[in-house]
Amino acid sequence: DDLVGVLPEGRKRVVVLGTGWGAMPVLRGIDSFKYEVVCVSPRNYFLMTPLLPSVAVGTVETRTVCESLRSMLVGKKIKFYEAECQEIDPKRKVIVCGENHKVHGDLGTMRESDKDVSKVVAKSSSRAIADSTRTRPSFELEYDYLIVAVGAENQTFNTPGVKEHAHFLKELPDARRIRAAISDAFESAAMPGVSADERQRLLHFVVVGGGPTGVEFAAELNDLVNEDLNLVHKKLIDDVKITLVEALPGVLTMYDKSIAEYTMKHFSREHIDVMANTFVKGVTAQSVKIQKKGEDISEIPCALVVWATGIKPRPLVDDLRKAIGEAVQSNRRALVTNQYLEVKGADGIMALGDCATIDFPKMVESVKILFEEADTVKDDRLSLAEFQALVKQKAHAYPQLEFFTDAVERHFKEADLNADGYLSMEEFHALLDKIDKKIKILPATAQVANQQGMYLAAYLNSIDPNAEDPHQFFSPFQYKHMGSLAYIGSDEAIIDLTGTKLFNLALGGRNAFYLWRSFYFTEMFTMRTKMLLFSDWMRAKLYGRDISRV
Ligand code: NAD
Repeated sequence: DDLVGVLPEGRKRVVVLGTGWGAMPVLRGIDSFKYEVVCVSPRNYFLMTPLLPSVAVGTVETRTVCESLRSMLVGKKIKFYEAECQEIDPKRKVIVCGENHKVHGDLGTMRESDKDVSKVVAKSSSRAIADSTRTRPSFELEYDYLIVAVGAENQTFNTPGVKEHAHFLKELPDARRIRAAISDAFESAAMPGVSADERQRLLHFVVVGGGPTGVEFAAELNDLVNEDLNLVHKKLIDDVKITLVEALPGVLTMYDKSIAEYTMKHFSREHIDVMANTFVKGVTAQSVKIQKKGEDISEIPCALVVWATGIKPRPLVDDLRKAIGEAVQSNRRALVTNQYLEVKGADGIMALGDCATIDFPKMVESVKILFEEADTVKDDRLSLAEFQALVKQKAHAYPQLEFFTDAVERHFKEADLNADGYLSMEEFHALLDKIDKKIKILPATAQVANQQGMYLAAYLNSIDPNAEDPHQFFSPFQYKHMGSLAYIGSDEAIIDLTGTKLFNLALGGRNAFYLWRSFYFTEMFTMRTKMLLFSDWMRAKLYGRDISRV
């Protein structure tokens, strides 16, 4: 079982870092008889992250959103080490792994604000984790292929007080802590002798960031207050306030404009206060410091701050970028890969999900070369069919072009001003230029990571790793956007299908909510978690959420 240096039967070793949305489809899809597969991750379970806001308020229970990695991989020959990869040496093709105290420390230790909030929960979980990992040795692991799917960290923009006093909503212990903190705030507010000001502070909940995480959490919290806490804390309910602070002019700005407007109106009806054009400048144990555009800094007293302002790279990824060289890896936000998800400047390393970004080649340039070589374009005019035929012929030499053909097809009709089915070369280049500008960085979503993971598994399964050009018979990765969904509270959701091939549709409301639920129900990986999720939803509807601090 000693993995270091020994490669049975000459199989290549694939080391997968991570057990999240990018890593799981690789592990599930890869041929573990063709390769020797080893997974290293500090988390020995897959986490259904889209349901974390529901876990934070008790609509869904903790174990419902976890799936043990080992049970998911039964029947596959995959080794798993619960450890943290601390260093990648791209020259020696070796990784160094160690005790996962850093990550688990992050998950398990108490933060300042927990000290008076969830003593029992945080203390007991951190002790259990520390005990079980303390004696694990560090080790080195050689790889032929390294798949980096380690995700990203919470972005704080170095805002003072965030790490000490605010709650993130990224990992399961975050959700557990928030649930305890909400219960604590209500129990503290119900104590005798609490002044009116202090009661209002204790019942003021502030969410920072109007992206999908912040919006979904504010929505779930509002449901908890209106559906459950109002029954047991009748006297307190008038003092409850939920504020969402967003630096931009509105929430959900990454979605279609109509959705952002719908959500703003819905929140206003639900009395969730959205403070737009406002930056959070600092967090203290009892307040947040905010600054509205053009105004002075002010302070709002509150008890709970949930921080959801996006993501930044993990130190491991930063170190790898530097080890490869910043001349090649010049993007400070992620590892730059080609369209086969291979990290530029590092032999055998692939990266996907939130820690990676694809460097799309400019289409205009490729097409110009293609036409020069083909010399089939007559009269300086081009029809869509001619373009498609050329791409088909030359797809082998210019695989990246296939990636753009859908976009060209969609835009061709629009650009065909004479409606004769032909564009002049000048018009055609302008159209390619326009599409080039539209092809932007893929969003940091589960959907992208999942598709990339499936692609990498299929890619590794199909190639001959000893061939000179393993790409030869494989197309580059192509992202198919299937739309976005987010819960906005009171059994309403939003769905944005613009930019997909399905419908050009963006809507909000009850129907979107049913779609949201059906989608996540089908997305649950196993029957066990499907059953748990269904029973959680039924329980919450029929008997309410458990609001005790356990
Ligand atoms: P985000 O990056 O999408 O949004 C963060 C928001 O915080 C931005 O609107 C930004 O303007 C605001 N912000 C930043 N600094 C601020 C400050 N100091 N004060 C006030 N506002 C500030 O982050 P997220 O919501 O955590 O999402 C992360 C990624 O995960 C995104 O790519 C998102 O699409 C994805 N995600 C998707 C879903 C879904 O599809 N339902 C759910 C959760 C997350």
